[in-house]
Amino acid sequence: MNLGLQGRVALVTGADSGIGWNTARLLLAEGATVVLSDRRQDALDDAASRLTGNVRAFAADVTSGEDLRRLRTRVHNAVGEIDILVQSAGITGAQGLFHEIDEAGWRSTVEVDLMGPVLLTQTFLADLRHGGWGRIVYVASEDAVQPYDNELPYCAAKAGVLSMAKGLSRSYADEGLLVNCVSPAFIRTPMTDAMMRTRSERLQVSFDEAVDSFLDEERPYMELGRRGEPEEVANVIVFLCSDRASFVNGANYRVDSGSVATI
Ligand code: NAP
Repeated sequence: MNLGLQGRVALVTGADSGIGWNTARLLLAEGATVVLSDRRQDALDDAASRLTGNVRAFAADVTSGEDLRRLRTRVHNAVGEIDILVQSAGITGAQGLFHEIDEAGWRSTVEVDLMGPVLLTQTFLADLRHGGWGRIVYVASEDAVQPYDNELPYCAAKAGVLSMAKGLSRSYADEGLLVNCVSPAFIRTPMTDAMMRTRSERLQVSFDEAVDSFLDEERPYMELGRRGEPEEVANVIVFLCSDRASFVNGANYRVDSGSVATI
């Protein structure tokens, strides 16, 4: 299937690893020009060197308006305005039951996982409204609609992203700007590797045993019984970025093998 992405310009955040990097790889394979962004330039340069196609890499912290304005200038100078924005930057943030997380824990998590997408969208909205065609895909999480009580700042921030995306999808659709989310569960990336290393230390078990017990005890509805691969999320993101998703707007695609228990 021709996805119609040849010549489109995409910006992907959180792009030096995991879901973001795999999305960039698949967009490049479809002939898009892709700008990778993440926090560290050295890691981005390494990530870009493992890709083929028309790729650039510029660091920016999504919580910094100043960084994002500089990123916009660098993107415009290098490749012009963007048509596609994939917001994948994120952190697990403060962990623990409600009484264990202080104000700083809440603020630092919401700052990245909710305010990051807000500031990024503000910075690039004008690009995406030009030309009568645009796509935004936010990487939310299963946690947005099925909150786990040991990571409520993350759950609340991701729920905020879903809400913002749904509202935003109404504002500029008649100009051709379509806005959607994907909500993964337990994907094999550095983010969940770190979670599983912590779990294996806490339970005094191997890494693989930590993954298996997490699936059994914490994610009982992940019916495929394994972690997802980042490419399995990236495939859905790239579809949502494409011409083939021309009637998809305001949607939240779950890529979770059934983890969210409701219909
Ligand atoms: P990942 O490989 O760790 O990717 C997240 C990236 O975001 C990292 O490269 C990280 O940079 C970057 N980042 C963090 N804070 C940032 C900031 N302030 N500014 C710019 N970049 C920042 O993990 P991933 O699993 O692919 O995560 C991608 C997205 O999927 C996240 O939004 C996450 O919440 C979401 N998600 C993941 C899963 C899962 O199971 N993996 C499930 C549901 C949702 P550093 O490396 O420098 O920290």
